Amino acid sequence: MIATIEHKGKNYKTDFSLPIDISIPLKPGPSNVNAWYCEPVKIEPVVMGDWIGDVNHGAGVNFRNVFLNPHGNGTHTECVGHISIENISLNQNLKSFFFIAELISVEPEKINEDLVITKNQLVSLCRHIDAEALVIRTLPNSIEKKVHQYSDTNPPYLEMDAAAWMMSRNIKHLLLDLPSVDREKDEGKLAAHHAFWQYPNATRFDCTITELIFVPDTVPDGLYLINMMITSLENDASPSKPVLYKIDT
Ligand SMILES: [Zn+2]
Repeated sequence: MIATIEHKGKNYKTDFSLPIDISIPLKPGPSNVNAWYCEPVKIEPVVMGDWIGDVNHGAGVNFRNVFLNPHGNGTHTECVGHISIENISLNQNLKSFFFIAELISVEPEKINEDLVITKNQLVSLCRHIDAEALVIRTLPNSIEKKVHQYSDTNPPYLEMDAAAWMMSRNIKHLLLDLPSVDREKDEGKLAAHHAFWQYPNATRFDCTITELIFVPDTVPDGLYLINMMITSLENDASPSKPVLYKIDT
């Protein structure tokens, strides 16, 4: 299925039959990516008296409860409601779902004991001024990211100036393969989150951050169309399924 897309005066061609899913599946049990000391995902049959919602236990249907934490259990998209005093729902603020996206690969810099993605790295790697979404694949990249247990490991994060630069460049959607844009332990400052969303002084309500993606090595850096899929959950964050499509000019 070939489509031609016009965006900011440029025409792009894409093939919707060739999706590149960059989400990590939400699986029950401990063999899945995890952060923030969250319990693993649970998917369990409903039990009512002696009825068990499981075809293999005599029920007519499988009927399961799902227990998860969007921020800690896998790929998720969040809005400014993640850091705001006000209760702000992603579902009320993300209202369009296709964007031109640039994928870059970045090896975070060692600064003191931390690994940090800096503004200077972004300035030198980002080439496409028209991209509204930025997808960051950190290096080294390995499929181990799909099962990594991030809690208490001080993962790489974004320099505050890097997040502010994205705002100045009008990048509305940031996606990365880390559990947070901020340092795991930063005394609750969440400096990069605040700089990206410009909260509370000039809040960018329609902007999102997507964490814990995985971009395989087979996907080259460059320009893509991204489809941001979320659930219609009224919450600051939702499990999400970002999908890339290669585009040609
Ligand atoms: Zn999060």
